[in-house]
Amino acid sequence: CGIVGYVGPGTMVGEASGRPLDVALEGLGRLEYRGYDSAGVALVAPGVDAVAFAKKSGKLANLVEEIDLHPLPAATASIGHTRWATHGGPTDTNAHPHLADDDRLAVIHNGIVENFATLKSELLAEGVQFRSETDTEVAAQLLARAYRQTKDLTLAMGQVARRLEGTFTLLAVHADAPDTVVGARHDSPLVVGLGEGENFLGSDVAAFISHTKEALELGQDQIVTITPTSVEVTDFDGNPAEAKRYTVDWDAAA
Ligand code: GLU
Repeated sequence: CGIVGYVGPGTMVGEASGRPLDVALEGLGRLEYRGYDSAGVALVAPGVDAVAFAKKSGKLANLVEEIDLHPLPAATASIGHTRWATHGGPTDTNAHPHLADDDRLAVIHNGIVENFATLKSELLAEGVQFRSETDTEVAAQLLARAYRQTKDLTLAMGQVARRLEGTFTLLAVHADAPDTVVGARHDSPLVVGLGEGENFLGSDVAAFISHTKEALELGQDQIVTITPTSVEVTDFDGNPAEAKRYTVDWDAAA
């Protein structure tokens, strides 16, 4: 339902999560108006073995309370999601992010993977174990498989996007690439917010409007890879592509 992504200087191992978590939670707060039934965040930082995450059904306040009780570690990149359940009830387990690749990869998703049953059978036959009832976890497991083969999160995302039918905005982070967030879109919106030494992603500009008004609107069937200092856009085959740059004409006083 609502999606936010961030990558920037962040914090060092041993420190609190800092800006990556703050940006994700604030962005989710600004996307609350869309309605949702669960919320979650995932964080990566250099030198960690696994993605750190928290997810809760119910209001964003439940997620914030969970994080207050069990603080998340240092981070350089974050993704955050508010869920409107389509496949699997609104439980903590079905909330996003969905993890794969020994919890080194986390995925959030807006939309519906229409061919998830076919893809899930294929993965089950390979021995993949699923933790949730969501269509999204199928995308996460496919991405893990593609990443193991390519060792390139952007190329892997393109391979997965080509196999999914339905509507999707997907964001992923991997513990191997703590300075990177990768996104893909098909019939579902994704906007990049351009910062100074940091970059943002959102399902709409509300996700990052308090930080930057400089934006790139991704076109249909595009992949975006952001680092603190770069934004690269490709098509699903990995060929360079152009996204539309604009300045958000919107006063974000609220
Ligand atoms: N289909 C996904 C799910 O049910 C994503 C729903 C959404 O857009 O929030 O988990």
